[in-house]
Amino acid sequence: MAKCGVCFRHCEIPEGRLGFCGGRTTRDGRVEAYNYGRITSLALDPIEKKPLRRFFPGSMILSTGSFGCNLRCPFCQNYEISWSEQARALAKTSETVSPDELVDIALRTRSRGNIGIAFTYNEPLVGYEFVRDTARLAKAEGLKNVLVTNGTAELAILAELAPYIDAMNIDLKGFTDRYYSKVLSGDRQQVMSFIEAAVKTCHVELTTLIVPGENDGEEEMHELSRWVGRLRNPDGETIPLHISRFFPRFRMQDRKATDVRIVYRLAEIARENLEHVYTGNC
Ligand code: SF4
Repeated sequence: MAKCGVCFRHCEIPEGRLGFCGGRTTRDGRVEAYNYGRITSLALDPIEKKPLRRFFPGSMILSTGSFGCNLRCPFCQNYEISWSEQARALAKTSETVSPDELVDIALRTRSRGNIGIAFTYNEPLVGYEFVRDTARLAKAEGLKNVLVTNGTAELAILAELAPYIDAMNIDLKGFTDRYYSKVLSGDRQQVMSFIEAAVKTCHVELTTLIVPGENDGEEEMHELSRWVGRLRNPDGETIPLHISRFFPRFRMQDRKATDVRIVYRLAEIARENLEHVYTGNC
């Protein structure tokens, strides 16, 4: 049995078993990434799809993911690799690549506009060791590293990765503790601390998915954008915010897609406090 130090859950993991996220295990009395190098997705995507709008716009990025997630968002768009039964099955069938091999693929796709590697799709921080080892090699080759994360990790994990990461998109899924804890099984305070520390280390953009009846109130967006408006990226710019539209999916099929008028109205409110607000999925 050993205790994981990656996120607020601090799972006690018995030898050979998995933590809550399904991505970490205990071996020889130590917690390690069970999903190390086990790739479930690999694609060359436009950087705007991460989404990042103010970091090398117009470029492509080799995007990769593994399996496992430490949240339980019922509407997850990537549930096949995050926290469903299918995700558990992938743990047995996914292919393994080494950091060297992945960097090699990234270098070979440079001619197609690739600027580096994005760690995305599942929650990359539950397997942060692979991110660290790969990003270190990629950086030495002059590639950029991007992390797309839910920000649910201890600051020690951020500190270990920060020297190699050039940009992040971090989810700020809402601005109430109730939503984070009751609906997502997360911890808003940990995410806010992570964001405050991350903006000091690299270019950060944030994403908020607007879910009807959960986080679509105008006052909540006033508060969220006021808080984000106090932060600055290393270049002194305010933090870009992506406000996106929910579609019913996975275990949240009891409501319709977010009314686009609500998304646009919340974006207007956010613009009172922020210079760069983008709407998505509308
Ligand atoms: S990263 Fe996974 S194993 Fe570690 S504490 Fe969080 S949920 Fe548990």
